[in-house]
Amino acid sequence: MFDVLHPTSKKMLTVTEYKAHALALGYIDVDHAPPGRCPVCKRAMRLKAGGTKNDEHFYHPDSFFCPTKDPAARPYLGKMPTSYNPAAVASNRSWVAIHIEHIYSRVADIAPCLDLKEFIAMLRKAKQLNIYAYANYQPEHTPYVLVTLINFLRTTSYKKTRQLKFMFFYDAGISSYDDLWINKGFGSDLMRVSYKNSKTQRSTLIDVDISYAELTPKYTLSSKQKSWCLKEM
Ligand SMILES: [Zn+2]
Repeated sequence: MFDVLHPTSKKMLTVTEYKAHALALGYIDVDHAPPGRCPVCKRAMRLKAGGTKNDEHFYHPDSFFCPTKDPAARPYLGKMPTSYNPAAVASNRSWVAIHIEHIYSRVADIAPCLDLKEFIAMLRKAKQLNIYAYANYQPEHTPYVLVTLINFLRTTSYKKTRQLKFMFFYDAGISSYDDLWINKGFGSDLMRVSYKNSKTQRSTLIDVDISYAELTPKYTLSSKQKSWCLKEM
């Protein structure tokens, strides 16, 4: 991984920034400085030299589970809602249908090179899992649930323009989608982590802001595309 969470704050640091931070604290040997943290599991990460000078990266100096090491093992994946309130589900679904362009635009913003077919795949998966039935579901958070439902590959991207495969992760403490809303608001960091040959590359903290729903959608869908989305959700 080429980025790490600051040892104590919520800031992400590159290799260069982390080294500067260690130096500013007065450490000559960067290995003795307070370690950066994995943005997903929050455990310590250390620097390791790569094959070339630009390949220096952070790694987990332990063999414990971290979702970034084994993306298929994310505990919340594929979990069905545990309770069901038909009125709430209907109201959530109708909010999503009305704001489908807003949701598409927000997803396109945080998932570069998005193809409409990928968006459709997310909507289908959401329907299959009935995400709209999760306890205390806030429909404004839909983009931040949708992106965790599929893997973003080069082959499925818009005109195959995506360079690196990426995935979205919640905090390792999240074991089901319901956990996200326990304290109202979105109670987890959402990270986008990119991969090259199954090695982690960049990680980016995603802003889970809901003001997108108040703005004019950045991207528009044709009426045909819109009805396709609504049919699949
Ligand atoms: Zn980790």
